[in-house]
Amino acid sequence: MLLSSSISELPRVGPQMLKRLNKLGIFIVQDLLQHFPRTYDNQTEIRQVAYIVRDEQNTVKVTVHQIKNIRTRSRKVLTEAKVSDESGALSVVWFNQPFLINQIKPGMEVILSGKIKFAFGKVSMQSPSVEIVKDEQIHTARLVPVYPETEGVSSRWLRTQIYQHLSLADQFEEFLPIEFKEKYSLMPKAWAIKQVHFPTGEKELKTARFRLAFEEMLLMQLNVQMKRKAWQQSQDEGKKMPMRSEEIKMFVSKLPFQLTKDQKITAFEILKDMEKSVPMLRLLQGDVGSGKTVVAAIALYQAVRSGYQGALMAPTEILARQHAKTLLPLFGQYGIRAELLVGSTTESSKNDLVLALKNKTLDVIIGTHALIQERVGFSNLGLAIVDEQHRFGVQQRALLKTHGSPHLLLMTATPIPRSLALTLYGDQDLSLIKELPPGRQKIITRVVSENERRKAYLFVDDQIAKGRQVFVVCPLIEESEILEVKAATEEYERLQNDIFPKRKIGLLHGRMKPKEKEGVMKSFADKELDILVSTSVIEVGIDVPNATMMLIEGADRFGLAQLHQFRGRVGRSEYQSYCLLFTDSKSSTSNQRLRAMEKHHSGFDLAELDLELRGPGEIYGTKQSGLPDFKMATLTDSDLIYKTREAAETLLNEDITLEKFPALKFELDKYLARKQNFLLE
Ligand code: ADP
Ligand code: MG
Repeated sequence: MLLSSSISELPRVGPQMLKRLNKLGIFIVQDLLQHFPRTYDNQTEIRQVAYIVRDEQNTVKVTVHQIKNIRTRSRKVLTEAKVSDESGALSVVWFNQPFLINQIKPGMEVILSGKIKFAFGKVSMQSPSVEIVKDEQIHTARLVPVYPETEGVSSRWLRTQIYQHLSLADQFEEFLPIEFKEKYSLMPKAWAIKQVHFPTGEKELKTARFRLAFEEMLLMQLNVQMKRKAWQQSQDEGKKMPMRSEEIKMFVSKLPFQLTKDQKITAFEILKDMEKSVPMLRLLQGDVGSGKTVVAAIALYQAVRSGYQGALMAPTEILARQHAKTLLPLFGQYGIRAELLVGSTTESSKNDLVLALKNKTLDVIIGTHALIQERVGFSNLGLAIVDEQHRFGVQQRALLKTHGSPHLLLMTATPIPRSLALTLYGDQDLSLIKELPPGRQKIITRVVSENERRKAYLFVDDQIAKGRQVFVVCPLIEESEILEVKAATEEYERLQNDIFPKRKIGLLHGRMKPKEKEGVMKSFADKELDILVSTSVIEVGIDVPNATMMLIEGADRFGLAQLHQFRGRVGRSEYQSYCLLFTDSKSSTSNQRLRAMEKHHSGFDLAELDLELRGPGEIYGTKQSGLPDFKMATLTDSDLIYKTREAAETLLNEDITLEKFPALKFELDKYLARKQNFLLE
């Protein structure tokens, strides 16, 4: 038998079983050995579990003393057993499984897994799964593997099969360089595979898991790093821009405020990159309101002063206009020629702008997707900045790159935990603005249940009476924009007709024409509206300092980071601001998640928390983001990520083609072949 042998060659695998195994992704023997346990039943003693009613699975290995069927008054069948181990005795019940008495006999040794409950006046283990102990060696271990199962393939079946073929693990090839073994304390692969299935103890299990996760994550990191190098090499000679320290100092000193420490650090990192001949590829992360725009402005200033053009692209017209409003006058002071180019710009102005860019009579262009239309060309683009970069596709980034390899700065207010960013965006350098400018108020945030809704509306009305304004964000409906628009429209009508008939309410959604949107936004900004009901389109952009209330419907449908971004729309004035999260979710985890919004005010803390609570797949969507579906590694394990990242760097520094490490190269190619739709492609 070989690792590459078909699973059908195993005993007890007929055509039907073969189909079922295929469903689990098991085709060859190797797949079987790499079908890792989902969890382990931690075998305990009766003494530790009996009489403790808890919503938790317990596993005990016991001897059966007595088992019988009892008919209840309601004519159901109850099977009752008395069992014990060395530490004590336990009673067990099953419902409507009278046949059990034919399988379980007094004197037998069995493993029971179930919850301890209180019923019929006594404490007992209820309806546990039963496994009759036959093969002593598999089951004496304290940690019993529990596998991902499918109909007709039980953990028990898998356990027996895997156990019988475990020695084949010796055939796995080691593809990690020998030096890593010591440096990262990695055990041999065969040992790790065996331990993961049948661990001798918690410590060994941990070591084994680390060994296997290391290898998986290393391939991922190699892939990302190789892309990074390939990107750099594919670029023309970059635009070297020696740092113009004096001029920059001057520029900064004339700003209406002092830069925060993080703004200074990130600006410096960016300017340092721009000095190099390799084009910059850097992601600037900073919470809403952390002041990324001014950092972008400094970089643009440096580019223009060095004789290049700069571009700043935003995902929406509203945002682009807002940037123009800030930056045009700022640059104007220095004689820098900057303009706005968006979809609604008139044809003739567009033509003028395109021409001006080509003739280099324009230094900085600010705009939307309109900037990457075919006809827009630059005379010498030195720096391209993409705001809210997650809103753009990779292709769009690639388009900017065609303009002669400018330095590229990506900005995002979506906080991505560092461990994840290093993996997903490992081909980019990272800069982070963690602190907000001084004097920002905390937004009082409350989770509001359905029965507190009335009270909340009274509070809202009170705020409006005081002259403040209110945002209402409607639930996210992922499947359909039309449904989402419908929901927002209904909410708008409900609020206007039933709740706040005297207040002026506006509606904003993604299906409106830019002109209409603009109109609604403007009346809200001009205080003609008291309440603005919208779909999630207002996530980015828009600055209305007089708005002090943010109501979010169906809050549990959003990620914490996203809620945090919504919340960032208020708290922009001297008035105390509030964020009310409405939810009718009964799930305690989702409520726990929402409660975090009450306590935490940093987007990064919230993102880390969300990652822990929901896992990366939930948050970022495995498919769309190209998150790999690891067998063993997790994207939240920062220790693993840092180590493998370092290891990948070491390897690539030694040989960028990896030809010196043929076994590793072979595995990487295999890995890449499996990963067709990967994020950064
Ligand atoms: P974001 O990171 O969300 O893009 P902005 O760049 O729009 O944030 O900045 C938010 C607000 O904070 C702007 O009004 C800006 O003028 C102001 N701001 C930026 N940096 C500072 C600072 N260091 N001190 C005070 N206010 C600042
Ligand atoms: Mg911004």
